[in-house]
Amino acid sequence: MSLAELQELESASVIASYARTPVEFVRGEGPRLWDAEGNEYLDFLCGISVTNVGHCHPRVVEAVRDQVARLMHVSNLFYTEPAMRLAERLSASSLGGKVFFCNSGAEANEAAIKLVRKARRTGDVVVVHGAFHGRTYGALSATPQEAKQAPFAPLVPGFRAVAPEPGALSAAVDERTAAVMLEPIQGEAGVHVLSEELLQAARAACDEHGAALVFDEIQCGMGRTGTLWAYEQTGVIPDAITVAKALGGGLPIGALVTGERLADVLEPGDHGSTFAGGPVIAAAALAALALTDDETMLENVRERGHALAAGLERLPHVVSVRGRGLMLACELDVPAPPVARRALFEQRLIVNATGPTTLRLLPPLTIGEAEVDDALGRLDSALEDQ
Ligand SMILES: *Cc1c(COP(=O)(O)O)cnc(C)c1O
Repeated sequence: MSLAELQELESASVIASYARTPVEFVRGEGPRLWDAEGNEYLDFLCGISVTNVGHCHPRVVEAVRDQVARLMHVSNLFYTEPAMRLAERLSASSLGGKVFFCNSGAEANEAAIKLVRKARRTGDVVVVHGAFHGRTYGALSATPQEAKQAPFAPLVPGFRAVAPEPGALSAAVDERTAAVMLEPIQGEAGVHVLSEELLQAARAACDEHGAALVFDEIQCGMGRTGTLWAYEQTGVIPDAITVAKALGGGLPIGALVTGERLADVLEPGDHGSTFAGGPVIAAAALAALALTDDETMLENVRERGHALAAGLERLPHVVSVRGRGLMLACELDVPAPPVARRALFEQRLIVNATGPTTLRLLPPLTIGEAEVDDALGRLDSALEDQ
């Protein structure tokens, strides 16, 4: 089927909620993708920080192949070993409490919101401007962006958005606050690292008023910033984190992971999901987590991240570079969307524009020195033609 035929099917049959780029991918391996015409691309976006271990990693493929042929689904009415092992591993590698599985990032945040509301019934959830927590109603209500929220009012009540400043945040938290929810590094907003002072102010305010501090690590977690979790580099330990995107090694899964204080808030009947933590996805996630929670891999993220950031700073039209590890964005003095398009169509490098002058790079955590240099060369060409 040609691309034109796919586009015809799309316009006839697919709800137009995405503005797709006209490329059809048919195969992926490591940091590379191939389109239907056989062209090879270097993927520095990873399906928005999902294929962090590279496309079709052999260990993930093997885990899925092995499990899918034996048992696909039984529901959460019964036990399967992969789910229990994954919960144990996730908890042990982070906050030491308990895990609720779901199927996406938005659902992980829904679980977090339900949990903190149940812990303090009257409570508001305080979020910060620029945040992105997902598209379902609770997660959307926690996402203070006019364009995303306005068409879908009325939203879920009880969310308060404040400026990402320590004073504003502290002032918004009182004994009625259920939780403060933030991304330590705001991804969709264009890779904005929240300041240490802000995170510390959030921690202090939550401690003072008995509120929960929830970090959305859906994009910045799973090794993306050079430690397994972004909070490890902040000196602040949250009461719960939400995880998704890269957790399944390319397949859909989300998880809410608590510390000990919140581990037993949800009880039988409080929340659920038919598919969540099924044996196939749990096997995939166990493989992805084992690959990622590895000092050699994380050191690679830090080293390649430094090299990529330094290289980006030297490119034409790059005004500044921000981010941590391999979660980077550069601010340009020219419009970013045409640069991303040229990088894709002329240089076969996949990056994306998160704003009018912002380019975001989320390469696989497995990339080597040669691929960083290759990507910088391609981006240089895309920028030079400007
Ligand atoms: C992608 C993302 C979400 C939503 O995840 P979905 O799987 O698309 O529902 C939530 N929070 C952050 C920080 C994200 O990057």
